Amino acid sequence: MPLVLSGADVVLPSGTRTGGRVLVDGATIAAVVPENAAVVDLSGHYVVPGFVDLHNHGGGGASFTSGTVEEVLKGIRTHRLHGTTTLVASTVTGDMDFLTRRAGLLSELAEQGDIAGIHFEGPFISPCRKGAHSEELLRDPDPRDVRALVDAARGHAAMVTLATELPGGIDSVRMLADRGVIAAVGHTDASYEQTVQAIDAGATVATHLFNAMPPLGHREPGPIAALLEDERVTVELINDGTHLHPAALELAFRHAGPDRVAFITDAMDAAGFGDGRYMLGPLEVEVADGVARLVEGGSIAGSTLTLDRAFKRAVTVDRLPVQDAVAALSANPAKLLGRYDRIGSLEPGKDADLVIFDADFDLKGVMRRGEWVIEPQLG
Ligand SMILES: [Zn+2]
Repeated sequence: MPLVLSGADVVLPSGTRTGGRVLVDGATIAAVVPENAAVVDLSGHYVVPGFVDLHNHGGGGASFTSGTVEEVLKGIRTHRLHGTTTLVASTVTGDMDFLTRRAGLLSELAEQGDIAGIHFEGPFISPCRKGAHSEELLRDPDPRDVRALVDAARGHAAMVTLATELPGGIDSVRMLADRGVIAAVGHTDASYEQTVQAIDAGATVATHLFNAMPPLGHREPGPIAALLEDERVTVELINDGTHLHPAALELAFRHAGPDRVAFITDAMDAAGFGDGRYMLGPLEVEVADGVARLVEGGSIAGSTLTLDRAFKRAVTVDRLPVQDAVAALSANPAKLLGRYDRIGSLEPGKDADLVIFDADFDLKGVMRRGEWVIEPQLG
């Protein structure tokens, strides 16, 4: 039976339509219409496209790197309850045999449509900028090794984060670009010039810009300047209030513009779950007040962010236009994944993936493929 969501400010790529109506038919958005036939009255609410998380390690107490299939599904479900209707599962550094097996397990979930692909973060990253990755398991991005992991994902490798300045880095970027896998520059100690070279070779994403890379210096602008200035690059930002100072976020957003930012969670197991002790790959993490840090050394170890909170923060704290925040949470990552024909905006014919917020930007409903994940309880 068709369903009409009416009365809301509907956020479209072309602008926000006050009092618009979204018609859901079966599993797709059949139409966005200006007139009557209300089934669900969403006056005073926002309907936005389902969120797309490019970089997410887990949630609900479950790890995408080490959890069982049931645990991984629980993690995915946790993020769905927070508006993420499309999720790329990220792994952390492990040994090659382990990651190869992991790629097999996650690729089955991709085949079932539970995840949109796999993001390998590590082991091909810099020991100088390792963050919460095990140093002894890091290795140079030899294109043969990178390719072996990609092949193990059976067509579902979405992205690989690389320190492109390491031996084999540029060749690996070329290999990934040739195979339609996103090459992301991150956990890197590259110079500005080395980063430009990586972008010219085909790198198109900055893995959590600012975090795990050299800071912007006036004589050594480093990767940040190279990644921000190049039109071909989309920059990931972790908008949790911990990973980035609001001024750094604003600088990146202004410089890259609203079409080149993807808000990610970089979430770990504690997202949507709670404080306590967790494992991130082989490393122990303590989560206190929602901030995850390695027990040893105190490095920030992913976030406990969910994308509904990233959205609320973007519009209430960062004061971004709703339109721009929504693009960074849906259209931009959907385009990177090559799925903008199906997801990433509220347009007729696309998957009925949408999120409902009240006027305070608190989440009130989630629909995925035409089915309520959370049915709005209104008035
Ligand atoms: Zn990560």
